[in-house]
Amino acid sequence: MEHVVGLKCVICGKEYGVDEIDYVCPDHGDEGIVDVLYDYDLIGRRFSKGDLYHSTNFTIWRYKPLLPIKPDSPVPPLTVGWTPLYKTPRLAADLGLKYLWIKDDGRLPTASFKDRASAIAVVKAREKGAEIITTASTGNAAAALSGLCASVNQPNVIFVPESAPQAKIAQLLVFGSRVVLVKGTYDDAFELCLQAAKEYGWYNRNTGYNPYMSEGKKTASFEICEQLGWDAPDRIFVSVGDGCIIGGLHKGLKDLYALGWIDKMPKIMGVQAEGSSYMYQAWKNNEDVLTKPPIDAHTVADSISAGLPRDRIKAMAAVRETGGAYISVTDEEILQAIPTMARGSGVFGEPAGATAFAGLVKAVNEGLVSADERIVVLNTGNGLKDVASAMKSVELVGTQPYRIEPSLDNLKEVVEHW
Ligand SMILES: *Cc1c(COP(=O)(O)O)cnc(C)c1O
Ligand SMILES: [Zn+2]
Repeated sequence: MEHVVGLKCVICGKEYGVDEIDYVCPDHGDEGIVDVLYDYDLIGRRFSKGDLYHSTNFTIWRYKPLLPIKPDSPVPPLTVGWTPLYKTPRLAADLGLKYLWIKDDGRLPTASFKDRASAIAVVKAREKGAEIITTASTGNAAAALSGLCASVNQPNVIFVPESAPQAKIAQLLVFGSRVVLVKGTYDDAFELCLQAAKEYGWYNRNTGYNPYMSEGKKTASFEICEQLGWDAPDRIFVSVGDGCIIGGLHKGLKDLYALGWIDKMPKIMGVQAEGSSYMYQAWKNNEDVLTKPPIDAHTVADSISAGLPRDRIKAMAAVRETGGAYISVTDEEILQAIPTMARGSGVFGEPAGATAFAGLVKAVNEGLVSADERIVVLNTGNGLKDVASAMKSVELVGTQPYRIEPSLDNLKEVVEHW
């Protein structure tokens, strides 16, 4: 792994060799998330846009020279990555915009963005010869780890709050994980999982703890820029819970910029649910995320319900360093965004997926974006993950099915009046 030159604490800046620490900076305990450092000169000499142009590998592994894994490490067989980036002119026109794309990560194998990170977790754990991998999750990271582990027969233990949507719990059980339903919040499940990993020596995939998760998530930025012919967009909208996705997107853009493959940095727009808006509050009030206490998180968008965003330092840097913004949207705006995005594009997102689109709507209404900007909205999770919320969303916008007896006369009655 000579292309990876070290790990750097995002709090104190201290650097470590890749074999020196597994997860966090020892000087900062569980908070000391580190960033993975690369030798871009070396990578740039060995790997080019031309190589990608000729690549027939349409997964995240097409970017292997930019990932923190050994070149010969086996990768899981599931197809992770290269999700479609749809041009959505109708949605754009409705919002008074010219250029809008939706990247649909609901299409990944376990139906959320988290597959990008869990794929890396499985490779790293196997490089270490780990017997068991563990994670805590609001649901999707768990489902992703569970599915990717199933694909390579890797034992794993999953901690989720018992309130996680049924579909996500079903995925875990179907894939054969050991599932611990924690009577508490995601934050409780996270703490318990950290303790368990230390107690039993399990490989720890946790978000905002394992430094390689942002590295998997950064592949979405690679894809966005490559799919746009290396002409980077002006803005990217993404929903934020723990802040690992937004931090990962930022890392991917920084990688491409360092290699000279893109010539500007898009502004990153982090969207949070009003009831779980730690980052938004910290950004607006200029608070220090190292000392800001946890909040009580409540939102319909379960995947972004986080009282203390675990990757908050990287998440703040992503917005600050790119000149983006944090936006907060209500649960009602999130639910409304589900059918609006689906009807305008054919992409059905779970609440946390549609949150990014709700943020774009708000940004347009508040005059934060101009009409000719090139904008990408990331749908991070499939709508079928949370059918109960989808049903609430259509009720909210007044859509109802017609219930009739099975006769043509009854149908005619209905058709006359719809
Ligand atoms: C995890 C998740 C997010 C938020 O990602 P963070 O890294 O926690 O900020 C957004 N949407 C979906 C569907 C998710 O599963
Ligand atoms: Zn440190």
